[in-house]
Amino acid sequence: MSAPRGDAVREVTRCRSCRCARLVTILDLGDLPACDDFPPSGSDPAGDGRWPLGLRWCPQCTLVQLSHTSPGPETPLATTSRTAGAHAVHMAAALRDSPETKGGATLREFGSAHGGHWADELERVGFTATEAVADLVVDNHGLIHAEDLDAALAERVEALADDGVLAIEFHHALAQVTGHQVDTIRHGHPVYLSLTAWQHACARHGLVVVDAWPEPVYGGCLVVLARRGDEGTVRAPSVDAVLAQEHAAGLDREEGYRRWGAAVTGVRRTVLDHLAAARAAGRSVLGYGAGSKAVTFLGVTGVDASLLPVVADASPDKQGRRIAGTSIEVVAPQDLLAHDPDEVLLLTWDIAPEVTEQLRAAGLTRADLSVALPEVHLVSVGG
Ligand SMILES: [Zn+2]
Repeated sequence: MSAPRGDAVREVTRCRSCRCARLVTILDLGDLPACDDFPPSGSDPAGDGRWPLGLRWCPQCTLVQLSHTSPGPETPLATTSRTAGAHAVHMAAALRDSPETKGGATLREFGSAHGGHWADELERVGFTATEAVADLVVDNHGLIHAEDLDAALAERVEALADDGVLAIEFHHALAQVTGHQVDTIRHGHPVYLSLTAWQHACARHGLVVVDAWPEPVYGGCLVVLARRGDEGTVRAPSVDAVLAQEHAAGLDREEGYRRWGAAVTGVRRTVLDHLAAARAAGRSVLGYGAGSKAVTFLGVTGVDASLLPVVADASPDKQGRRIAGTSIEVVAPQDLLAHDPDEVLLLTWDIAPEVTEQLRAAGLTRADLSVALPEVHLVSVGG
């Protein structure tokens, strides 16, 4: 899982969407490890690969993007949760029932290892998969992994029938900024999309956004439907509602995104204070969930093994390894139970209800369960 990779990343000076050359740096997190790197336990963190991680803002199209290309290729991590499976069923029904799609439509999916696949569920509700141009082109967290957003969008538009619909789901910058989701800024996710920025990108390819709605998965996503059209194309009222929310949160301006950077400082301080206070009081705190977010979270906050000695994870591939950039070991969930901690910090906060239920069912009854974002708080009190 710590696949050898080149360190040939390069600085990005032109917008990944509109090619504007006036990108503004709004956050610099320094050099951080790759999110799929889990070195063997006992090895020295000083030897872990690290690459520059920062955010830049485009004053022309409002897109926020990584300051450098990412080390690659990325090894997909086992992240299939029950939540993701249920979401695929829900999204298939939502796309079938949308007034923008039609019965018997053909389907093409541009998926991702992280977002799971929707094609099977979409076929189950009546869509027909094709490799040719399709009535419905679905991008399920695929495009956000593309270094070149404009080129990736062109590929999807090419796959779209003349009167077809492009449906995309992405982690919504509105949720990322307002939820202080500093651990979603990571290598391998080059772009952080708002509807404002996506609408700009679509317009350059002759597409009009016709519908948009939020989905609660992964900490807050947005689903956006677009089709070929012009200024006269009818749009659902929710499109303007989402744009208004983004404007109110400052996401069409540089200052709004600078608040995301400021959140890093706030999260770092409160997490370190919380864990140091627990240690001083003799309370043992362990972690749960060695997902991709954990690498950024621990790297950004500087939490080390003295504050969080182990993180449990259900994936056997990660057990016996450590989280890159730290000495924190990944153990099996049963080892977490054996430690009988006073508190477990859930690093996979986006699926906290599912993890809480699993840990309680497995017999972790005494420990309090907490999450660190948007600020440290308990999600379940032990008893
Ligand atoms: Zn741009």
